[in-house]
Amino acid sequence: MSDRIGIFGGTFSPFHMGHLNSLLTVAGELELDQVRVIPAYQSPNRPRLEGPNPEERLALVRLGVSSYSPLLVADDREVQRGGVSYTLDTVQDLRSEFKTENLFLIIGADQFENFDHWKAFTEILQEVDLVVTTRPGFEWPEGLESFPPGLRGLVKKNDGKVIELATSKKIYFVKLNDIDVSGSELRRRLRSGESLDGLVPEGVDEMIRERGWFEDLHKKVENYLELTQEMGRILNEKNAINVVGFDLGETHFPAQFTLVASGSNTRQTNAIAEHLMNQVHQTYGFWPQNIEGQSEGRWVVLDYGALIVHIFYDYARAEYKIEDLWADAGRVVIHDPHAAFRKPGDKPGPRS
Ligand code: ATP
Repeated sequence: MSDRIGIFGGTFSPFHMGHLNSLLTVAGELELDQVRVIPAYQSPNRPRLEGPNPEERLALVRLGVSSYSPLLVADDREVQRGGVSYTLDTVQDLRSEFKTENLFLIIGADQFENFDHWKAFTEILQEVDLVVTTRPGFEWPEGLESFPPGLRGLVKKNDGKVIELATSKKIYFVKLNDIDVSGSELRRRLRSGESLDGLVPEGVDEMIRERGWFEDLHKKVENYLELTQEMGRILNEKNAINVVGFDLGETHFPAQFTLVASGSNTRQTNAIAEHLMNQVHQTYGFWPQNIEGQSEGRWVVLDYGALIVHIFYDYARAEYKIEDLWADAGRVVIHDPHAAFRKPGDKPGPRS
């Protein structure tokens, strides 16, 4: 009989006990011969954040699974391939390498929620069985009604635990003894110097700290005032509305500087944020260490350590009035490359 092979992809920034718990439980329940743990070079639809590069994330996975060889194997194919890592390419690659029909793609409940937005999800489900595990904070899909809409039409038979699909593959559901840990929480802890005790496999914490991979960005930026001014200039250049910079003083350390700007609709808000991140990366070589609100585009927050950038949909900005919080703070002078062309009385804002 051909081998039963699990596939577990992700960013793994960093690899943690939630991942290990899922892998080992699923491998046991579905009697897998091995599980390939595959860090993405760049996950689709995931923002780029400051932190270890793909090779470094692979090193963390290698270390994290090293005590479980030969069951768990760190797999470098997506890192080697480069570019955006699409699961269908990976699955097809594995199929031709292992010559097996028995491939199991393991994902958490958070990923299942939007599985019908994955590129070529129907084709993926022609190649693999899907294994969905519980994950703290995410809904457990009890009935067909809580399935992602795009998947419902593929369901042929449902006995509660195993779903048969029209593609002749199956979906299995596995309940874990949940571990409430996520990459984002670990990154936050690392930046603020908190312990990762019990949350990552042995050695992972030491490797991260030795290499300084998740240090707070303020350690890398020489002059935050200059960075605030430069980002303000980029925002104006991109026609953001009403770009304002605040210097809250050193008592607000580490978040001393703030920029506020807006876009005239949610799409423009996201486009402005995207442009700003790319320009900053090009000039300074770093990405924000955290991003919030990008999926909705009403209030996008980019965390650059001592500088926090708020980009609003202009209507939401008027609603939240967060600038009132800093009414007494110092202002940062921001250059507006369009100002010279504006007539007196014109409002700053998008130009046609
Ligand atoms: P982030 O906070 O950066 O999104 P993450 O750990 O959720 O971190 P990935 O490393 O991309 O992100 O996750 C890889 C896979 O592991 C996904 O399928 C995800 O659902 C699953 N996973 C992550 N954490 C857990 C957990 N605590 N329990 C079960 N599955 C998990």
